[in-house]
Amino acid sequence: MAKRDFYEILGINRDASDEEIKKAYRKLAMKFHPDRNPDNPKAEEQFKEAKEAYEILSDSQKRAAYDQYGHAGVDPSMGGAGAGGAGMGGFADAFSDIFGDIFGGGRGGGGRTNVYRGADLRYNLETSLEDAARGTETRIRIPTMEECEPCGGTGAKKGTEAKTCPTCGGHGQVRMQQGFFSIQQTCPKCHGTGRYIPTPCPSCHGAGRTKTHKTLSVKIPAGIDEGDRIRLSGEGEHGVNGGPAGDLYVQIHIREHPVFQRDHDDLHCEMPISFTTAALGGEIEIPTLDGAARLKIPTETQSGKVFRLRGKGIKGIRSVGRGDLMCHVMVETPVNLTDRQKELLREFESISQEHAERHNPRAKGWMDKVKDFFGS
Ligand SMILES: [Zn+2]
Ligand SMILES: [Zn+2]
Repeated sequence: MAKRDFYEILGINRDASDEEIKKAYRKLAMKFHPDRNPDNPKAEEQFKEAKEAYEILSDSQKRAAYDQYGHAGVDPSMGGAGAGGAGMGGFADAFSDIFGDIFGGGRGGGGRTNVYRGADLRYNLETSLEDAARGTETRIRIPTMEECEPCGGTGAKKGTEAKTCPTCGGHGQVRMQQGFFSIQQTCPKCHGTGRYIPTPCPSCHGAGRTKTHKTLSVKIPAGIDEGDRIRLSGEGEHGVNGGPAGDLYVQIHIREHPVFQRDHDDLHCEMPISFTTAALGGEIEIPTLDGAARLKIPTETQSGKVFRLRGKGIKGIRSVGRGDLMCHVMVETPVNLTDRQKELLREFESISQEHAERHNPRAKGWMDKVKDFFGS
């Protein structure tokens, strides 16, 4: 059977513009695509015919050769001028070009199947306040997918091969006609991979990957705070069809500390002192991140007083200097008193009562206000 004229196949004039050629092919490709014509064996022939015509006429060099010499000018077996040995290799490009135009592209990698970046993963890492303040390095164990060994990642049982998906022809996408519109969907048979595995590998059930664990080393920078995230580039989920891996985000959670509460770069701690120390003054030992320190308690220190120790806080990741340590005084009422202690306190109280406004000015002032309130 003689080869049909390429212009005739596409139904265009010999002086058709590039745009008209593309439009004509697009129409025919949609109409005769084998996926959409499963019961029409002729459709595939027509599809191929249109594709060949488009490949020649969309290439200005080949088109010129075809115009001058006819089929002989572009048939590789005839050694024609403009064929250039490109053969059928242009199929994927022409196709993705056409459908890229229609569906807005998104078929990464230039391949025939869908290439996706792997998903980002999150790992919650608990750390102590001390480690967060000083920085540390720790190892974490995370679940991961690794190439299945028995099948070498193909997903096909040893000795068998994956085939091009018959439903989507390897494109990973199928088009559904819905009224006037054609909608592109991920192929339900191959889930977008474009491949179909007749005999799946028994180890990975065709996935090509198996679940395992990997241990990663994580550097925790000094000063890191609750909720901060450390990004480990490329340690997330693997990409699909050779796409890049996602990232792993290590989210920091700082364990509650028995002594300190952190507020950005500052540390706070409650400092219970005996009421005699509060009254008479003294020196007490307090903890800091750098070890024990001594703090002078002046005489007549009241509950709620805050002592600020400059530079004894934390140096945040983005801070210039270290924060402060705030010690909140809490005067402790003595408990489990012996008879002797009670006796002394009663004596102390009776002496204090004589000059209440002098020894307990706040309590005295408050009592006066209460009396005024009740109008006595
Ligand atoms: Zn498919
Ligand atoms: Zn396998």
